[in-house]
Amino acid sequence: MRISFDLDDTLFVSEQKFKTEPAPKFPFNFIYKDRLRAGTVELLNYIRDQKIELWIYTTSFRSEKYITGLFKYYGIKLDSIVNGARHEREVQAGHAEGMPSKYPSKYRIDLHVDDDISVVENGKTYGFNVFHIGGPDDEWVDKIKADIEKIRKRIAASGGA
Ligand SMILES: [Mg+2]
Repeated sequence: MRISFDLDDTLFVSEQKFKTEPAPKFPFNFIYKDRLRAGTVELLNYIRDQKIELWIYTTSFRSEKYITGLFKYYGIKLDSIVNGARHEREVQAGHAEGMPSKYPSKYRIDLHVDDDISVVENGKTYGFNVFHIGGPDDEWVDKIKADIEKIRKRIAASGGA
């Protein structure tokens, strides 16, 4: 099983509006300015413990090095990163028509987590699963764990791994 997360307003949130994970300690707080939604470390560690592949799928052009480094600071290893550049190269390239802003099926991602309602709509059109995350929600970790369980059962019932 493979799960991906958007960054902006999904895992990276405003400190003014959201509870966040503690900021990195000096000097890393100057390198990693993005703040993680509180609960991110618990959820992502849970996903790794479950042997589920952990991906980041963002339309932003943050470098792979920056994203890898930030999560590594919190002790989280990512399996793969699709940023804006990779999406352009691997999803959009060769298509005259506009492709969806994110196309998780291209990467066989079973569940994608995103705050953007247009990604949810594209999921319905193109047939991929999206967990829609919104504003501050103390239950978000448990809700995603429940969704993972549902999808896992569905995969098992269809004879997949
Ligand atoms: Mg977003």
